[in-house]
Amino acid sequence: MPETGRAAIFTDTGKPFEIREYPVPDPAPDGMVVRVTSAGICGSDLHVWRGDIRIAMFGPGARILGHEMTGRVSRLGANVRTDSMGQPLKEGDRIVYPYFTPCRRCYQCLRGEFAACPVKYPPIPICDNAPHFFGAYAEYYYMKEAAFVFKTPDELGDEMVTPVNCALSQVIYGLRKAGLKMGDTLVIQGAGGLGVNATAVARSMGAGTIVVIDGVPERLKLAKECGADVLIDINEAATPQDRIAKVMGLTGGRGADIAGEFVGIPAAVPEGIAMVRQGGTFLEVGNISIGQTTAIDPSMLVWQNKTVVAVNMYDPAILPVALDFLMRNKDRFPLAQVVSHRYPLEKIDEAFQQAEWTGKKTAIARAVITP
Ligand SMILES: [Zn+2]
Ligand SMILES: [Zn+2]
Repeated sequence: MPETGRAAIFTDTGKPFEIREYPVPDPAPDGMVVRVTSAGICGSDLHVWRGDIRIAMFGPGARILGHEMTGRVSRLGANVRTDSMGQPLKEGDRIVYPYFTPCRRCYQCLRGEFAACPVKYPPIPICDNAPHFFGAYAEYYYMKEAAFVFKTPDELGDEMVTPVNCALSQVIYGLRKAGLKMGDTLVIQGAGGLGVNATAVARSMGAGTIVVIDGVPERLKLAKECGADVLIDINEAATPQDRIAKVMGLTGGRGADIAGEFVGIPAAVPEGIAMVRQGGTFLEVGNISIGQTTAIDPSMLVWQNKTVVAVNMYDPAILPVALDFLMRNKDRFPLAQVVSHRYPLEKIDEAFQQAEWTGKKTAIARAVITP
């Protein structure tokens, strides 16, 4: 009897997850099999679960969802001896890795633009087909090619490391691409997993005044503890005009050097652009639901020399930067609090319902599955 592992299978919106068991695959010579120890429920997973991003995009058939995760090397491919920093790697080591794989065989990869590789995140295969373990919500994760994998320091617990391969690396990469400099005034739209991480990262990068906008008291409190200087509560500043006026008031009528959209609401885009000073930069990260549109006035970008930067995923070289950031700041910012609820694999439906409810009504950011 081959060893088996459990996985939570998503079949369609509105249907409960099913727990299935599959044989644990052998690793490919250049890859590995990971024993997943913690998997986060990210905003984009909720988009798929809810049906904003249809699972049908991938074609019919059941899939294992989830991309934000960490784990231990379970079975190492014969050709893999070290991590991507050249440190010896063995079975049992804790690791982080991107959930996407730049092909290193395309126009963008050749130029080192790994985040822009057009095939870095192919459709998730049907999980009934071997090697089965294509997503995070399972006991194992099959990494066909261990192109980018990094050993995790033991000083960092799973609750800190789980968001490293999604939210944390995403915001570091985004703020770098937006050109955040020491002393810059930054507006952060949304204090969910992305926004709270962005606040702490921007503080650490030397931002000047950091303004965070949200409507959930617990999230605003956490943003404050992660380094926000000014909080704008959307229950008090209820219209875009109110919030834009607040930012203008904080910046001598000029606007922020950078405004970043981390909430995933199309209407936040024109609002954020309006908060940016002439010559400043608007950073777009949150909106990922294709077809959800908004109206902007492009002449305002031209007349005011504004730059728009959009990022999806990141350069894998950001992962060790993210781990180092956590090592230096683990006692400074309460980022572990971003993980607010923990669920075993068989309670995944409850976890998604809680995450959905949490996102709308109260409390903090991430629910995690501990398979
Ligand atoms: Zn994510
Ligand atoms: Zn490529």
